[in-house]
Amino acid sequence: MAVYKYVIVGGGLSGGSAVEGIREIDKDGPILMMGGEKYEPYHRPPLTKQLWFKKKQVKDIFVHDMEWYSARGVNLLLGTRAVGLDARECTVADSSGRTYAYEKLLLATGGYPRVLGLPGGDLPGVCYFRTLDDFLTLQPQIAEGTSVLVIGGGFIGSEISAALNVNKANVTMLFPSPYLVDRVFPESLGRAITEQYRIRGVNILANDAPVSIEKDGELYVTRTRNGDEILTDLVVAGIGIVPGVELARDAGIQIEDGIVVDEQLASSAPDVYAAGDNARFPYAALGRPMRVEHWDNALNQGKVAGRNMAGASESYTYMPYFFSDLFEFGYEAVGDVNSKLETYCDWIKENDTGVIYYLADGQVRGAMMCNVWDRVPDARELILKGEVMAPAELAGAVR
Ligand SMILES: Cc1cc2nc3c(=O)[nH]c(=O)nc-3n(C[C@H](O)[C@H](O)[C@H](O)COP(=O)(O)OP(=O)(O)OC[C@H]3O[C@@H](n4cnc5c(N)ncnc54)[C@H](O)[C@@H]3O)c2cc1C
Repeated sequence: MAVYKYVIVGGGLSGGSAVEGIREIDKDGPILMMGGEKYEPYHRPPLTKQLWFKKKQVKDIFVHDMEWYSARGVNLLLGTRAVGLDARECTVADSSGRTYAYEKLLLATGGYPRVLGLPGGDLPGVCYFRTLDDFLTLQPQIAEGTSVLVIGGGFIGSEISAALNVNKANVTMLFPSPYLVDRVFPESLGRAITEQYRIRGVNILANDAPVSIEKDGELYVTRTRNGDEILTDLVVAGIGIVPGVELARDAGIQIEDGIVVDEQLASSAPDVYAAGDNARFPYAALGRPMRVEHWDNALNQGKVAGRNMAGASESYTYMPYFFSDLFEFGYEAVGDVNSKLETYCDWIKENDTGVIYYLADGQVRGAMMCNVWDRVPDARELILKGEVMAPAELAGAVR
């Protein structure tokens, strides 16, 4: 059996960042990284943004090139899934029957797309958009007038719809909420952004949901709860992810929505860590456990996990931010930006430019900077201060 000081399961951003973290401390302990996809770690945000606008090419999205890994002595097993974990014996088995022993293990398994549980939800060709392969499959099918039904009005659905619209596809969006990105946007902003989509020609079917998908010749026929029948060339779905916890769960590791880790990102099993989309960690600044499905968290959490695997004993106290671009509307957000919280919108230009504060018991818990850039550090400071403030006192607090 091959023996490694470090085994990383998952070849996404948090896995790639963990290599950096390990090597900051341990220059030569053997590392094995097992990745289910056939690519070395890459950034996913461009899959719904720059790659569609010709601002980036596929070669630009990799976290590091292959030489970077070989220069750091990383054995990259791509296109290989871990299928079994024995956390007592400290071994991991892969899909081809090989077993590896580890001293420290990182589960950086991210998440996989939630699938529609309805007739036709698993039809071949229905694209649950998440990976580079999904982009490489979808992009060549898009030409002027290609009709696409996008199911889901959250981050992925909204971003991919904007990208397809800019690429002249004929996009229909179907989602159960009254307006886009409703889990984060206050109602007035959500409605204004949804209207922008309409103005650009996206057909919006809000307050509705699919009940079945069928194939009729070359077309997909999607029937909805409200009785609509939508015929399109393509169906793309973005309805959230399920955290990749199976290996951990089957090994008896504590799961609660994600893999439960402590402030040093260690799981309930000795020498097993988790980071990224799959990890439920104590979010120090908010004083409660959270699982965060965003790029900046995967980047920074993966690195701290790697450092701790190599002996650093550091707490993850970082406050990750996230970002999104919907046509001309871009934002950066940090903290708890749940639209169910009380919000105070400090607009410079209504529903376009300004800062939204999210409050609980008078304390700022989160902030979203809309078309306002590089102010994340100020927002972090405000959240950390934890002062009780009247909403009106927040005018101009972050600018
Ligand atoms: C299209 C898209 C656009 C996005 N845009 C933004 C954005 O604009 N802003 C933002 O903040 N965030 C964005 N995100 C979210 C961000 O990309 C994720 O938070 C980040 O990719 C999480 O990284 P991760 O390494 O934890 O997980 P993942 O990226 O899911 O990587 C996990 C990897 O592990 C592999 N794996 C899983 N199980 C196994 C196993 N058993 N064996 C081997 N390998 C396994 C998977 O195949 C996968 O390659 C976007 C995500 C997507 C999909």
